[in-house]
Amino acid sequence: MTHQFPALSPEQKKALADIAQRIVASGKGILAADESVGTMGNRLQRINVENTEENRRAFREVLFSSDTSINQSIGGVILFHETLYQKDSSGKPFPALIKEKGIVVGIKLDKGTAPLAGTNGETTIQGLDGLAERCAQYKKDGADFAKWRAVLKITSTTPSQLAIQENANTLARYASICQQHGLVPIVEPEILPDGDHDLQRCQYVTEKVLAAVYKALNDHHVYLEGTLLKPNMVTRTVPAAVPGICFLSGGQSEEEASLNLNAMNQCPLPKPWKLTFSYGRALQASALAAWLGKSENKKAAQEAFRKRAQINSLACRGQYVQSGKNDAAAMQSLFTASYTY
Ligand code: 13P
Repeated sequence: MTHQFPALSPEQKKALADIAQRIVASGKGILAADESVGTMGNRLQRINVENTEENRRAFREVLFSSDTSINQSIGGVILFHETLYQKDSSGKPFPALIKEKGIVVGIKLDKGTAPLAGTNGETTIQGLDGLAERCAQYKKDGADFAKWRAVLKITSTTPSQLAIQENANTLARYASICQQHGLVPIVEPEILPDGDHDLQRCQYVTEKVLAAVYKALNDHHVYLEGTLLKPNMVTRTVPAAVPGICFLSGGQSEEEASLNLNAMNQCPLPKPWKLTFSYGRALQASALAAWLGKSENKKAAQEAFRKRAQINSLACRGQYVQSGKNDAAAMQSLFTASYTY
């Protein structure tokens, strides 16, 4: 997009576009390992593991120390603040461990939701104050992309125009600040799956929300080629300049999330973007179930993670054929009502 007062030099634009393209290179997606301390605690509780800093670190080490070949399926890993500054058992910082596999390091930047008064329980996202300084520091500390999750919900009275506009504008402001500091912003307007609405209503709302998001990104002079979109699984309305759409799994089982991504990639419609994954729950459920907090299970957990990553890599190309031999963990619904991250 050209305009009168360019916000980014050609070199800055090229650097951003190159990062985005590396993350969604053919067959690659994102491991969202940026669960907050509380969300990670819920996961660990399910396998009877205490939510300590060491246990959170240990599980992340299982994932990040996977064999280098994981880079065939994983192009980027999103980290939470605590994890960006943790190390593996040999003392190597996690960002270095990830980068030496040729995988791009990302950082979660939003600080969670805050109520929008006078709405039916709707929210905006906090974290814009001091964001420029945080971006500059994270870039120095190894991050090249970022995530900001806005949350919208479908009921008979939501999403309201206020929630749509406020969240779109906040996402755009975040994206603009990220790009000024060399971070590729993942723009995530998540419409929660909660509710008994049908697919048509989800499609209608998603189109409204995405249209507002791209209007706001345009208003804020965001360079789309240096962004990625992370939506719930309904898409249209996305400009062709965006290099990749990296879906969240939203509480689907691992297998459902892979089959749906595969189906979208098989759909014979023109697709100007890469359709790939940025899964949290749907990339980690089997690995957690195999790990159980025990170091002797590390290999089995890594194998479970490798298997899901590889399946999703095939799904990115529409080449996944279900074998019918999935274990229970892969088939289990991962839905949590009013999910927080
Ligand atoms: P799920 O794939 O578990 O929905 O989460 C991905 C994510 O990063 C949500 O912000």
